[in-house]
Amino acid sequence: MRDLNRREWLLASGVALPAAWLVGCRSSESSVTREPTPALASTERAARLVLPSEPTTDGAGVRLRRALGNRSLSMLDPFLMLDEFNSDRPGDYIAGFPDHPHRGFETVTYMIHGAMEHRDSLGNHGRLGPGSVQWMTAGRGIIHSEMPKQEQGLMWGFQLWVNLPGRLKMTRPRYQDIEPTRVPEVTLGSATVRVVAGQAGGATGPVRDIVTQPQMFDVRLASGGSFRRELPSSHSAFLYVFEGALEVGVPGRSVARGELAVLGEGDAVSTRSSGGARYLLLSGTPLREPVARRGPFVMNTQEELERAFQDYRSGRLTQG
Ligand code: MN
Repeated sequence: MRDLNRREWLLASGVALPAAWLVGCRSSESSVTREPTPALASTERAARLVLPSEPTTDGAGVRLRRALGNRSLSMLDPFLMLDEFNSDRPGDYIAGFPDHPHRGFETVTYMIHGAMEHRDSLGNHGRLGPGSVQWMTAGRGIIHSEMPKQEQGLMWGFQLWVNLPGRLKMTRPRYQDIEPTRVPEVTLGSATVRVVAGQAGGATGPVRDIVTQPQMFDVRLASGGSFRRELPSSHSAFLYVFEGALEVGVPGRSVARGELAVLGEGDAVSTRSSGGARYLLLSGTPLREPVARRGPFVMNTQEELERAFQDYRSGRLTQG
């Protein structure tokens, strides 16, 4: 993958750095002390940008669609990449992602259908089936393979990349492997929500202790359904539609299957669907640090990036 160019960096930063958000501060005449009060009314986030995912090939020849980390939007701090792989043609996925390294960020695999096997240089391995999640903090380095565990049928899932702050880029690798039954599914009006990370409807997602405090929801709307979700105003947020079509924000903007919507300033997002839809909703705290990225490494500086390649070539990538 290319490095960020300046325009893309500014775009991504601009989305993540909303203009100062002025919250109404109510002063009480009868009170001696003046305390800041919460926002008097929540503000709807709009679909600030709607971008189609782009077909591409990665790994040993896996055909996928890249919704983030592409030519249109190279990142949305702290999110670096979102890929959707969705095919029932084995030739599109069977080659998988043989041994490759990562350093400096987190990779998240979320499966809808089919199965992927994960195996790394430290001896960890696991099988990800439908509805399961793997949140892997690569930290200072892992070398792993991600291979389909099927020779036919539908393979459908996502890979999300989330950045780590400089102080944690060289942390010890950590896995959160989550079985489908551990992901709570809550019904909120006409929406069914799988809570992967964060909280919704009284349920707390199983992914814990991630520095960027992400919220990750898999939202299914019935025909004519709607869903409104509060998201911290300090978070960068986006959604990606993978079934049907949505109206996002007030006034609504259409987001079709295969499109990513970057959400603007505000503290809530409203979605509606006339014909039904399913989408991923993600938010997280932007890191606001320089990003030097190339291929499987995401660091703060070019020197650190060069070091990562050197460490990989010399076999030191995964050594503490
Ligand atoms: Mn990988």
